[in-house]
Amino acid sequence: MSPKLPIYMDNHATTRVDPRVLDAMLPYFTEKFGNAASRNHEFGWKAEEAVENARAQIAQLIGASPKEIVFTSGATESINLALKGAAEFYRDKGNHIVTLATEHKAVLDTCKRLEKDGCEVTYLPVASDGLVDPENIRRAIGPKTIVISILHANNEIGVVLPIAEIGKIAKQHGVLFHVDAAQSAGKISINVERDAIDLLSISAHKIYGPKGVGALYVRRKNPRVQLAAQIDGGGHERGMRSGTLNVPGIVGLGKACEICEKEMSAESRRLLALRERLRTGITQRLEGVTVNGSLEHRLPNNLNLSFGGVEGEALLMGISDVAVSSGSACTSAQLAASHVLRAIGIDDDLAHASVRFGLGRFNTEEEVDYTVARVVETVTKLRELSPAYEAAKSKGR
Ligand SMILES: *Cc1c(COP(=O)(O)O)cnc(C)c1O
Repeated sequence: MSPKLPIYMDNHATTRVDPRVLDAMLPYFTEKFGNAASRNHEFGWKAEEAVENARAQIAQLIGASPKEIVFTSGATESINLALKGAAEFYRDKGNHIVTLATEHKAVLDTCKRLEKDGCEVTYLPVASDGLVDPENIRRAIGPKTIVISILHANNEIGVVLPIAEIGKIAKQHGVLFHVDAAQSAGKISINVERDAIDLLSISAHKIYGPKGVGALYVRRKNPRVQLAAQIDGGGHERGMRSGTLNVPGIVGLGKACEICEKEMSAESRRLLALRERLRTGITQRLEGVTVNGSLEHRLPNNLNLSFGGVEGEALLMGISDVAVSSGSACTSAQLAASHVLRAIGIDDDLAHASVRFGLGRFNTEEEVDYTVARVVETVTKLRELSPAYEAAKSKGR
C-alpha cells in the first residue's frame, strides 16, 4: 500500500508527459522528420499536415479557429509576443496596460520591460482571497489603455479569476484582452468567444505535453488583432513568429490538448476528490493551518496551505520525499516571500511556512494519504520543538 517514493505533487511547475502524447510525438523525430516549411516533397508535407492537425486540436480546446493559433516556445514567449507585440503595434493608440499584482513573472517582468520602454502599467491589487472585483478593472481603464492582461488561474494559489466578466468590460471599452491560461487551459473550461478573449497564452508542459512548446491565440475578427513580431526571419506563423517549427513538440501540444478536452470533466472530478482528501486529511488533524486563496474559485488540483508555528525550511525537509513547492522564491541567494502570498496579505514568516500542493493526472489516493501522514507527523514534531508556537497559541493566534 505504500507508494513509490519520491512522490511528485508539484504539477503547477511542470507535468510528466502523458505516454499517449509521447507516442504521438515519436515518429516526428524519426521517419517523419521533415521541415513543415518544405514545400517540394513528401517529408515537408507530412510535417505540415501534422502541424495543421495540432493547430486544430488546440483551437478546438479553446473555441478558436485553427488559423488563430501561433506556435511559440512556451507560455513565456507567448506572453512576451502578446504584450510587447501589442504595445509596439498599437503605440499610436496608447501605452497603458492593466494587469494584476499576482500575475506570473512572465507577465510582470514583461510589463517591467515595457515600462522602461515608455509604457505605463497599472498593477491592480487583489483581495485577501486572491480575487479581483471586475469593477476595479473597469475603473483602471483610461483613454490610453491598449491591453488588459489577466491570468486565468493563479499558479501558486490556484485562484480562478472572473475572466468572462473582465472580457466583457474589455470589449465594452475597446481594449484588447490577453489571458495567461498556462494553468487553466485543459483543466477548466475556457472559450475565447464566450469569454471575449483576444489573446491567450498556453504551454504544453503544464498539460502533460513536452517542455519548450506553447501557443498564442490571436483573434482574427471582431476585432482583428495585429501584433509586431518579436522574432524575425522567414515569416513563419503569419509573420508573427519566425523560426522552423518544432514539429514533434507541436504534435505533442496538440495531442495533449485533445486528451485534456476529452477527459477534462472526469479528470477534474477525480482531482477535486483527491484535493479534498488532502485538505481535510491535513486540516482535521492539525490546527493552525490556513488555506491561501479562495477555496470556491479555485483549480481542482491546487492546494496552498500555511502552517502556523513551523519554520518553512524545516517543514519542507521533513516532507522531502514529497515534491512540492514552498511559499518562498530564491532570488539572488536570498529567500523572499512569494509576491502572490504577499499580495493576499500573508506575512513573510507565514509565507515561508506555506506549501503549494499541485495534484495531477498521475497522482493516486495512496500518494495523497502518504502525504497527509508525512505533513501531520512533521508539523506536529516541529511544533513540539517550538516554544514560540505554544506561546502564540496561548495568545489565541
Ligand atoms: C508556467 C507558467 C508560465 C510560463 O510557461 P512556460 O511555458 O514555462 O514558459 C506562465 N504563466 C503561468 C501562469 C504559468 O503557470
